[in-house]
Amino acid sequence: MIKESNSIIGVSHLTVRNVGLGFVDVPGGKTSINIYFSGCSVHCSGCHAKTLWEPIDSDYTDHRGLIEEINKRVAYAEWVCFLGGEPTEQNDDAIRSLITWLKENGLKMCLYSGKEWNHPSEMGIWSVVDMIIVGPYVEEKRTGGWPASSNQKVWTKDRSDEWSLLKDM
Ligand code: SF4
Repeated sequence: MIKESNSIIGVSHLTVRNVGLGFVDVPGGKTSINIYFSGCSVHCSGCHAKTLWEPIDSDYTDHRGLIEEINKRVAYAEWVCFLGGEPTEQNDDAIRSLITWLKENGLKMCLYSGKEWNHPSEMGIWSVVDMIIVGPYVEEKRTGGWPASSNQKVWTKDRSDEWSLLKDM
């Protein structure tokens, strides 16, 4: 169980739609605690999550609710995955609080962003996570595997905490 912290009180500003366990979102057969946000301006054609395009107020209006959802699953997963919707359109301060708290508790983090970022160092607070998958979903480039379309880039951190490109099709 991970600890409650006043540092994540700002999560009430996030539009979290759902929290669940994921089995295919982090490669290598890793299980993740998936946090799905609502709100996405990218609007990829063929998006599988159109119901998450509009930002909807979170059910987790209190940080304790989100902590509880994470704690229910933390025995099964050492990764947290941020998906959408578009996580990078969330409130920056609230994301900073959440990510800092997860990192303090030793969890690894993976972000999916549908935007065209050139490098993780351009991504502000998100650059502290451990893996980033960037790029829109393009139906014509659907892989049927991971990542979902072949244009998407996968960035990972090496042992010295430097970013390297795992995949660039
Ligand atoms: S970025 Fe994700 S949620 Fe947004 S439109 Fe593309 S596939 Fe859908």
